[in-house]
Amino acid sequence: MTEHYRAIVVGGGIVGTSIAYWLSRLGWHDIALLERRELTSGSTWHAAGNTTFFGHYPEITKLFVNSVSTYLDAEAESGQPVSFHAAGSLRLATNKAELASYHRLEPVYEKLGVPYKVVTPGEIADIHPLLVTDGLLGAAHTPTDGHVDPTGATTALAKAAAARGAKIERWCPVTQLSPSASGWTLTAGERTLQADHVVLATSFWAREMVQGLGLNLPLYPLQHQEVVTEAVPELAALGFEVPTVRDPYAPSNTRQEGQGYLCGVYESRPEFWAIDGIPPDFTEELLPSDLSRLEEHLLRVMERLPSFGSSGIKAVNNGPICYTPDGLPLLGPVNSHPGLWLAAGFAIGIGTGGGSGEYLAKWMVEGAPETELPAVYPSRFGKGMSRDRCLELIRQTYVKGYNLPDANAS
Ligand SMILES: Cc1cc2nc3c(=O)[nH]c(=O)nc-3n(C[C@H](O)[C@H](O)[C@H](O)COP(=O)(O)OP(=O)(O)OC[C@H]3O[C@@H](n4cnc5c(N)ncnc54)[C@H](O)[C@@H]3O)c2cc1C
Repeated sequence: MTEHYRAIVVGGGIVGTSIAYWLSRLGWHDIALLERRELTSGSTWHAAGNTTFFGHYPEITKLFVNSVSTYLDAEAESGQPVSFHAAGSLRLATNKAELASYHRLEPVYEKLGVPYKVVTPGEIADIHPLLVTDGLLGAAHTPTDGHVDPTGATTALAKAAAARGAKIERWCPVTQLSPSASGWTLTAGERTLQADHVVLATSFWAREMVQGLGLNLPLYPLQHQEVVTEAVPELAALGFEVPTVRDPYAPSNTRQEGQGYLCGVYESRPEFWAIDGIPPDFTEELLPSDLSRLEEHLLRVMERLPSFGSSGIKAVNNGPICYTPDGLPLLGPVNSHPGLWLAAGFAIGIGTGGGSGEYLAKWMVEGAPETELPAVYPSRFGKGMSRDRCLELIRQTYVKGYNLPDANAS
């Protein structure tokens, strides 16, 4: 018997569960989420969980802010902790252009009602006493952002969605997707499912899933590494959690994890992973780490945070992360295929997943986007691009790290 749903979300990472949560919250209870393995089994389980509020574009910043409120709502509804730490963040200004651009954002944050202040090097020393401020011109301080537990947040979203009627199915890989007279037909094992709307929240799997529909999605997985240190006595001595530091000079983000540091690095010569296709037997795996590729940046992190070098390295995690040519997700309808929606290509999926779920679900339920956000629409890339061109643009975007969006200004 063919099962029928108003909407089927494919993919049970932070993005897919957020969409299922928001669809059910907005009144679509006749929905299903189908996940190939366990929830979070793609990139979500190994993410650092950083949820910055700093962004150069107001609408994207809104996605960041709404993500944290979504996770907290799901926590309250489900009783599942998301472990939000509101330790705040510092985006360092290493030159005049960065400082000026941070100042230009002040009215944006005022309008959004999000605490934001450009602080002086003297103020930085109070906020993060372990940070060496030599050479810094200041920083943008977002005191109310921080980090969540990605698995906790995904579970909370799934539980809250299920409580509102959504069917959450694990170990249910979708093997085929095709348009039908009344919507979409999906094959999952022996089952055939029918849906008016299908959302692909399948990260780097999405490209292969839609090739048969004649679509060429510009997204590929890159390797992304983070370093976890042993306990750092200087952090323990402070008695409070220090904010996340995002440093264009390093370029890296470094936050407190327990009594140690967790540092994610944007490598200068990033390596791709599985560009010829995601191995069918890929499970909850990390890739082989390579500390030598991080060395030049870690030395800079130690200049800024000498205590980072005072303890040993506990782990180096290398995980696949999905990138598009401009680093922003593909979020919205596929115009050539009515009823098909994309929510893939998230490089900052914990930071933007909750708000993106809200944005897309409102669009699906109301038939129009709440605000225009062409920077994330799948249509911005037209018919896609050649693989070489796509990989080159992804490489350039990743390497930019925390430089200003306009390369000339940084
Ligand atoms: C080391 C590292 C650190 C990171 N740190 C951060 C951070 O601090 N903050 C941040 O915002 N981001 C971070 N990221 C990025 C973050 O992990 C991703 O942006 C995010 O997890 C993407 O979520 P997603 O739901 O789009 O994809 P995924 O979590 O990959 O979920 C996609 C799901 O789709 C499922 N799926 C695929 N194909 C099928 C199918 N055919 N049928 C059914 N299910 C299917 C998969 O099994 C998977 O569970 C980090 C990434 C790495 C590698």
